[in-house]
Amino acid sequence: MTAPLLSLVVPVYFEEDCVTEFIAQVQRVLDPMDLRYEIVFVDDGSTDRTCEIIRGTAHSDERIKLIELSYNHGKQAAVTAGIRHARGDYLLYMDPDLQDPPDEIPRFLAKIEEGYDLVFGIRSEKKDSLVNRLTSSVFWYILDKFTGLKIPKGLAVMRIFNRKFADQFLLYGEQNRFIEGIFMHVGMKASTLTIRQQERYAGVSKFNFRRKLNLAYDAILDYSELPLKLAVRLGVSLSMLGFLAIVVVAVL
Ligand code: UDP
Ligand code: MG
Repeated sequence: MTAPLLSLVVPVYFEEDCVTEFIAQVQRVLDPMDLRYEIVFVDDGSTDRTCEIIRGTAHSDERIKLIELSYNHGKQAAVTAGIRHARGDYLLYMDPDLQDPPDEIPRFLAKIEEGYDLVFGIRSEKKDSLVNRLTSSVFWYILDKFTGLKIPKGLAVMRIFNRKFADQFLLYGEQNRFIEGIFMHVGMKASTLTIRQQERYAGVSKFNFRRKLNLAYDAILDYSELPLKLAVRLGVSLSMLGFLAIVVVAVL
């Protein structure tokens, strides 16, 4: 029997200082294991040396693949493109900044092989700057308040899922897709795994407060009845005002 194929799906955007170390750490963990793997990088429009470095390593290691998006489409689109191109029996989605460490991969594999469709990483603690932690808290608070999504607290980026889950995920057609929402919505047999968190290896976070807010808008538009309710309330209020105006004019 051939060993299962694991696809790592990794979005990259200005990550020239992280990718070399990321690849080295993944190889160190996965090479000794009895499995086949590929790393599917999706470049989201970087103009630094990110692509050049990945292409360089892909040259000598055919398990490394690179999809280049024409411009910065946003992480959500990059991850979706990666999932679409990955060929694995299992897909593991993680960032290259090493905040979620590659040496946790074997635990994810062991857990999903217990018979789950999806295993989410949960961060034991969030190692990030105070500002980043604060903006993230606001972001998750808004999501919790305004959408019906039951997103686990301390959700990490790193997660593993099987082919059945990936195929289902790809059926969702939203343009500005909020992928955490889709992950929750697919609704297969899921479990969680508490993992260690590290500081970003190098470079800076690409998600400032404004970008997080935009993501929260997408999530609310996709998964909340709030915009619909507001529109209905506005409509009803305006009609009542119009009606009142008619009565006032008639009386006058
Ligand atoms: N990323 C991306 N497109 C973007 C912004 C970010 O593909 O427009 C990637 C980025 O390279 C990283 C991941 O998404 O691999 C998460 O971004 P980051 O680590 O900056 O966010 P944080 O962990 O601080 O929330
Ligand atoms: Mg990060």
